[in-house]
Amino acid sequence: MRSLLAPYRQASTVHRLAEALKREITRPWTVMEVCGGQTHAFLRHGLDQLLPAELSLIHGPGCPVCVTPAASIDLAMALAVRPELILCSYGDMLRVPGSGGRTLLDVRAAGADVRVVASPLDVPLIARSHPGHQVVFFAVGFETTAPATALLADQAWQSKLGNLSLLVCHVRVPPAMEALLTAPECRVQGFLAAGHVCTVMGTDEYEPIAARHRVPIVVTGFEPVDLLDGLLRCVRQLEQGVHRVENAYGRVGSQAGNASARMLIERVFQRVDRQWRGLGSFPASGLCLRPPYDALDAERRFPQTAPTPDRPDSPSSACISGAVLQGLARPTDCTAFRGRCRPEHPLGAPMVSAEGACAAYFRYQGDHHVQ
Ligand code: SF4
Repeated sequence: MRSLLAPYRQASTVHRLAEALKREITRPWTVMEVCGGQTHAFLRHGLDQLLPAELSLIHGPGCPVCVTPAASIDLAMALAVRPELILCSYGDMLRVPGSGGRTLLDVRAAGADVRVVASPLDVPLIARSHPGHQVVFFAVGFETTAPATALLADQAWQSKLGNLSLLVCHVRVPPAMEALLTAPECRVQGFLAAGHVCTVMGTDEYEPIAARHRVPIVVTGFEPVDLLDGLLRCVRQLEQGVHRVENAYGRVGSQAGNASARMLIERVFQRVDRQWRGLGSFPASGLCLRPPYDALDAERRFPQTAPTPDRPDSPSSACISGAVLQGLARPTDCTAFRGRCRPEHPLGAPMVSAEGACAAYFRYQGDHHVQ
């Protein structure tokens, strides 16, 4: 049976779009794909090899595991070692080093009860089956995973689950894009925005960014045709001197997004300034629980485990992940890449995560196969 995605992977369409890019570009442009999923797709399909020399594609901070600060990992580990507590999170989070280089996997190996869940909605089952324990969900991710966390908080609140709380480290994409554009060393002239974020949040949030910074923002999916079509639309805008938000992922995303998910996020969370790993603190770039859901906040429930607030990240001295996450350096610029830093021994979060740029370069560089 033909896959529904087949039209978006068709080699002839990919090559037609690549030829159009080469034909229409007349001068150098730098475009950032925001999302780590887009980075992996570009490299996995060898699309970077098809781009014209004038087009420089740089990779953005859209990997949730990569931007979760070491202080949050430290706090999760401090919670996890409490004997009465079960800490749950997504699998990648267990391998991200905290400020001292230790990981949640290390504390689990030392006896802490740390569990991987595929969905936040698995957490109430664990809480109900362990009434003598406190269960904490370590919630990370962008607007894509925030609705499921909000649903968990709402369910826990409505059902009065007294032994479930949340350590919320969710982040928002638009403030990060804005911060990148205002940085003095910014090279970004256009963005490919992540289609799955816009499926939830819509595209309205990008309008003021495109207008204020005069940058095209094109929303794309994750298949080869989606990505090259998005790049072509972005380059066309740049060549014409226009800057608008364009949705090249109309089969899924819409201007308004998912109204139910947005309402749930709005009801459960409020915006806060948030520290991003390697990048600094951005205003209103994070989400935290708003009243009355803040009664489920693990930091409030276990205040004595809180690490020093806003402790600066201290990754391995070799790690240049901050520059990688801002598109100022490529993983291959890092002296530890493929040597001391490898997926089985990562020195920084971008080598840990399934969406990290360093992991993408490690996995796919020299392994291109356009279908
Ligand atoms: S290759 Fe490793 S050490 Fe270098 S920037 Fe990436 S994660 Fe950090």
